[in-house]
Amino acid sequence: MEYFLTEEQKTIKDLARKIAEERVLPVRAELDETEDFPRAIMKYLADADMFRVFIPEEYEGLGGGCLELCLVVEELSRVCAAISTCYAVNALGCYTLIEFGTEEQKRKYLPDIAAGRRLTAFALTEPTAGSDAGAIKTTAEKVNGGYMLNGTKQFITNGGEAEIYTVIALTDKTRGARGASAIIVEKDTEGFSFGKTEKKMGIRASATRELIFRNCFVPEENLIGREGAGFLMAMKLFDRSRPGIGAQALGIAQGALETAVDYTRQRIQFGQPLISLPVVQDILGDMATHIEASRALIYAAARTVDSGAKNLTEVSAMSKVFASDVAMKVTTDAVQICGGPGYMRDYPLEKMMRDAKITQIYEGSNQILRNAIAIETRKRKGRT
Ligand SMILES: Cc1cc2nc3c(=O)[nH]c(=O)nc-3n(C[C@H](O)[C@H](O)[C@H](O)COP(=O)(O)OP(=O)(O)OC[C@H]3O[C@@H](n4cnc5c(N)ncnc54)[C@H](O)[C@@H]3O)c2cc1C
Repeated sequence: MEYFLTEEQKTIKDLARKIAEERVLPVRAELDETEDFPRAIMKYLADADMFRVFIPEEYEGLGGGCLELCLVVEELSRVCAAISTCYAVNALGCYTLIEFGTEEQKRKYLPDIAAGRRLTAFALTEPTAGSDAGAIKTTAEKVNGGYMLNGTKQFITNGGEAEIYTVIALTDKTRGARGASAIIVEKDTEGFSFGKTEKKMGIRASATRELIFRNCFVPEENLIGREGAGFLMAMKLFDRSRPGIGAQALGIAQGALETAVDYTRQRIQFGQPLISLPVVQDILGDMATHIEASRALIYAAARTVDSGAKNLTEVSAMSKVFASDVAMKVTTDAVQICGGPGYMRDYPLEKMMRDAKITQIYEGSNQILRNAIAIETRKRKGRT
């Protein structure tokens, strides 16, 4: 398939692949075991200017968009989705700032993020507000000169590791989701601490942690955009970021396919390589076809995001739903056709299967997103 990537996009993709193979591959199994945050790899990515990819040029970035980010995420995920999670969530953590921040806020934060000197996180989910994100309870009460935050955020990627947090909190709790605002909270702010570190099924080297705010004061200049627009900004952000989760799923599936091809080529049973069996060829053929369909949908969705098109909900949700379901199926089938070794930790497939699962859950579960797609489809009344 020809995707007509520019020379710059090809260079970014190749560089991400090189880092994944040279720096991530040798340590992925160990990181999965220890669940240690991959600081050294974040440093390699920073030194290779990978954090600049999604930052505008005026703020020391490379000025890339959703497609460039997807290319990096795809390549990192092909080797290790935990690493791509730690990396990609930085784009999530600063998209709101890029889109809605003041010039002063952008100058203050974006160059450090571009250089990889400071990591970011995005905090919406709470113990009582997951899919029903509008039910958040964390408050940011207006006080003299700023806001006083109180509440707990749950399952926050890069929690405890990031230096900059975009937190969605209620500045007007009488208005529900319409009273939510986006506020920047820096790591060492008084009253801001970290709670439970989650032990996960997959993407284990990524940090997932609780954020706790107890009378945490932040100055009013940390408000992004206007009061009450936080929920809307979060929804816009997810419209832009979901192809990135699709790209993560795509990379995992691609890695699983390649591993399964290598294994079934060299495994001899009944006097022939497994790959010669029609049943195995059927499965591999399906895997390859679905992966290519994912790639086509994700690149098209990313290009739609980058085109400045207004309504991104449908295409963005479709790319995430499709690619994540493909990743789950491909990794499960890959384990199956590799038999016992596929199930063992000596091979990467069981990790890929565990890692794939999260892509169906976060940034909007696939059930919620199918619902969103159906609503958009109904609005269009069958028009293409
Ligand atoms: C590893 C990990 C990292 C995460 N990182 C972040 C992060 O960085 N920042 C952040 O803010 N959040 C983060 N999250 C939270 C994540 O986005 C939520 O877990 C997700 O949105 C689902 O919410 P929930 O877990 O509360 O499940 P629930 O909302 O309780 O849903 C449980 C199940 O019910 C289904 N369901 C719920 N409502 C409906 C409905 N109306 N119709 C049909 N089905 C429904 C869901 O699809 C799901 O299958 C992370 C989660 C995980 C696991």
